[in-house]
This record gives sequence, C-alpha cells and structure tokens, in this order.
Amino acid sequence: MIVEMRAGTTVEEIDGVVQRAKSLGLSVQLNLGTSKAVVAILGNNTGSLPTDVFAVLPGVESVTRIMKPYKLASREFKSEDSKVEVGDVAIGGKQIVVMAGPCAVESEEQMMAAAEIVKKAGARVLRGGAFKPRTSPFSFQGLEEEGLKLLARVRKQFAMPVVTEVVDNHEVALVAGSADILQVGARNMQNFTLLTEVGKSQSPVILKRGFACTVTEWLTAADYLLAEGNQRVILCERGIRTFETSTRFSMDISSIPVIKRASHLPVIVDPSHAAGHYSLVPAIARAAIAAGADGLLIEVHPNPKEALVDGLQSLTPSDFVRLMGELRTIARAVGRDI
Ligand code: PEP
Ligand code: MN
Repeated sequence: MIVEMRAGTTVEEIDGVVQRAKSLGLSVQLNLGTSKAVVAILGNNTGSLPTDVFAVLPGVESVTRIMKPYKLASREFKSEDSKVEVGDVAIGGKQIVVMAGPCAVESEEQMMAAAEIVKKAGARVLRGGAFKPRTSPFSFQGLEEEGLKLLARVRKQFAMPVVTEVVDNHEVALVAGSADILQVGARNMQNFTLLTEVGKSQSPVILKRGFACTVTEWLTAADYLLAEGNQRVILCERGIRTFETSTRFSMDISSIPVIKRASHLPVIVDPSHAAGHYSLVPAIARAAIAAGADGLLIEVHPNPKEALVDGLQSLTPSDFVRLMGELRTIARAVGRDI
C-alpha cells in the first residue's frame, strides 16, 4: 500500500502514518522525495486492510494499493528517477556510465593493462570477476581472495571504482572491502539469502537479470535489496534464454523502456554476455544507448586471445576505443553524454 502525503506535510504527520503502520504489525519505507513524501506500507496482509486506516490520518493525500508484487522498485513508490552515486560517478543521470574490463581477474599485469586502456577510452568503472560462477565445475573459478586484493591495488593505482561479483552470502563483507560496486550475477538473481546480505551491506549493487526471469521477477528481486534500506540498486539487462541460438542469449532491448516505465531504478546493459561474440557487441551496445540505457557493462581484454574466460566475446583495446566514439554519437542523438 502506498500512502502519498500532501505537499508541505509535517514530520509529525509522516510519523503518524509510520506509527499507525507499526501498530498494525506492518513495516514501512519512506521516500522523502523533493516534492512530496511517500510511505510504502509493507506486510503480507496489507491486501485485507482497508485503505481508510491511513486515508483518515492528518496530512495524507491518497492511499493506493500496489497490485504488483514489487513495491519499493516501483514508480508508484518513487516517481523520480533514482541516481546511484559511486564516488564521483553517478549512474542514472544524463551522463551514460560505461563500465569495462575483463570477464575475470587473471593477473596483476592483465588488470593494470585493462584499467589503463578502458580509463583512457572513457570508461568510468573497471570490471573484473574475482569469483566466477561457471557452468562447469572444471572451468577456471577465478582467483578469489587473491583476485580481490589485486582489484584493490588496481582501483587505488587508477583511482577508478571497481565492480566485481559476489556469489556467496558469507563473503559479502569480504568482497565489499575491495569493491565499490557488488555484482549479483544472472545465476543468483533469485538467491534471496544473498540479496538480503547484499542489501544489508548498503553497498552499491548491480543486479543482473536472471536469463529465465521476467521483468516482474527481476524487479521483485530488487525489492529484496531495497527492503534492507539499500537504495543504491542498478539493474543490468544481459540477455535472456530463447529458442534462438545464433547469439549466446537474446538481448531483450524492450526491457529497457519497460523498466523505465515501471521503475525508478537505473538500468544498464551488458551486451557482451548476450552476444557471446565480439563482432556483435558494438551493435547491441549502440542499440542499448539508443533505447535509453543509463550505462553499459562491457568485456574488454588487453589480449582476448589469451583470456582465461570469455575471450570470444571480449573487445580488443582498439575495438573498445572505436565503440566509445560511436557511443558518444548515439548518446548525443538521444540527449545524453558519455
Ligand atoms: C559476468 O558479468 O561476469 C557474468 C558472469 O555475467 P552474468 O551473470 O550476466 O552471466
Ligand atoms: Mn564473462
């Protein structure tokens, strides 16, 4: 249930709504927006509660039931776009944020080279997986803790925020110690224990779309993070499984405007895991910006032929530089900057 307060409402009036909800055993989340305050009333039995319980309270303008399973990620709760700030980088504003780097952290030399290349080309965030969830247990699983230490060194050297994946709810604090943004991968989108821990950490988080999940399931998963009071949630479309086999996954470009309509959260696109092949990445990246994405997460390797993971879909340094130029043109055409 969403309680919208009148413009210019007092702190006491907002507190009156909060206390009433608590007296009924319900929890609340506040959105103290620029124009008016909104209180989300959360609980598993709000459906049986008359809206008048809140409508009669002083300062309340309207009470609406949200029929969707997600509440906190919805535009009904927060009408203005959310911006996620990571150091001096803001995701969800006019500026499109490109995050780039190798699939996996492999060595100090590889990460230092990658950081230099992507930073010079205009990327604002460095990516690199220390923990790699792999389809086969026999594939390289990442350098794990050693990879995290390495990421921390590269982050310091290049003064660049880093994003890396967390796969285990017991390792959230460990990973958050070396990374500026935690990534929850597609295979873990509905790992609710992990989502709750990442939510509690209050770290900025990229929530990738599960490749067999609907937009509604994705936004409902985002509510697990938001329910812990973590407002710094970024969604990432990375392609879904369809009958099509010519790409690794099918890029669902339409999810970008769908998310923009349904949610206030920023959405970025990972063209690399959808494409599965470097030659397809630029077109998908351009399309994502044209469709309204707030950023991109792109695999770039100093030497893709030598990559331990996902070399085939990684851009070379020169391909990445070329793509950044193309993206600037598209961004300008849709009223954004890179
Ligand atoms: C990744 O970004 O490294 C990754 C494994 O992506 P996804 O979870 O989307 O497959
Ligand atoms: Mn990868």
